[in-house]
Amino acid sequence: MNKTIYFDHAATTKVKDEVLKTMIPYFSLNYGNASTLYKIGRTSKMAIEKSRAQVARAIGAKPYEIYFTSCGSESDNLAIKGIVKGNKEKGNHIITTKIEHPAVLNTCKALEKEGIEVTYLNVDKYGLISIEELISSIKPTTILITIMYANNEIGTIQPIKEIGNIAKKNNIFFHTDAVQAVGNLKIDVNKSNIDLLSMSGHKFYGPKGVGALYVRDGIDFERIQDGGSQEKGKRAGTENVAGIVGIGKAIEIAYKDLDKNTKKLLELREYCIEQIQKNFPDVKINGHREKRLPRELQLFIFKLKFRRNTF
Ligand SMILES: *Cc1c(COP(=O)(O)O)cnc(C)c1O
Repeated sequence: MNKTIYFDHAATTKVKDEVLKTMIPYFSLNYGNASTLYKIGRTSKMAIEKSRAQVARAIGAKPYEIYFTSCGSESDNLAIKGIVKGNKEKGNHIITTKIEHPAVLNTCKALEKEGIEVTYLNVDKYGLISIEELISSIKPTTILITIMYANNEIGTIQPIKEIGNIAKKNNIFFHTDAVQAVGNLKIDVNKSNIDLLSMSGHKFYGPKGVGALYVRDGIDFERIQDGGSQEKGKRAGTENVAGIVGIGKAIEIAYKDLDKNTKKLLELREYCIEQIQKNFPDVKINGHREKRLPRELQLFIFKLKFRRNTF
């Protein structure tokens, strides 16, 4: 019998059975529009608010600091463009890195066409930014630092706390694309001085088509899509109630089981590295040996010389 082993959880994950089970009633039974005041509408509204609390709790935020979106890409767009639009008088310079996901890179490129200045930081051979380069890139006009929490290809985790401190000290907003990190790493937006954070349900066993953006209370950011007043006027469009219920359940499960899963993943990863290096000495590990997502292992093959295969 053929058995498929799926190895690309950085690209997407399946929806957990338990997550799917909580979502199903919101497609057919509790289908109310959350903006209405009668019973099934209120049921939807309550389900959304429950999920908002679940998402907030997972990252140390407050429920009213969470905005639901349609995906990680939309959260990145809303964060970056929303800050730029809402803080024009403060400056027009953004600092990011050369290894961001296209959702951030192409958002920055689009803004450059509108007169925003962008600095793209280099990374070293492990995929890490240099704190010195970050500090020397700051200008009086810098309004936003947007640096990913962990990379989607090599899994390298950036020094988020240090970046957050630098941003705070210089009175600059700090956004992190945490789409790979949420559900895989312990995150505390206050301890790390993160002002905005993007996540996406389908990267941690939730459904595709739903994301969330955390924005620290009191920060001015503007909507990028015109329409109704959903999500406190920041994200127009009838809420994807089932999807929102799914992302809330998925994040709750991910953090409930985090320590256990991390331990298992690290054991598996180390075993995998050991066996591969023993059998294929020319294989190199891409990214940082320790500062990497537990689930992430990307290998490099220069020339493959087969030894006696002991797999
Ligand atoms: C997957 C991913 C995104 C995009 O999320 P979508 O929900 O697929 O739009 C953004 N950033 C990173 C780092 C990702 O891994």
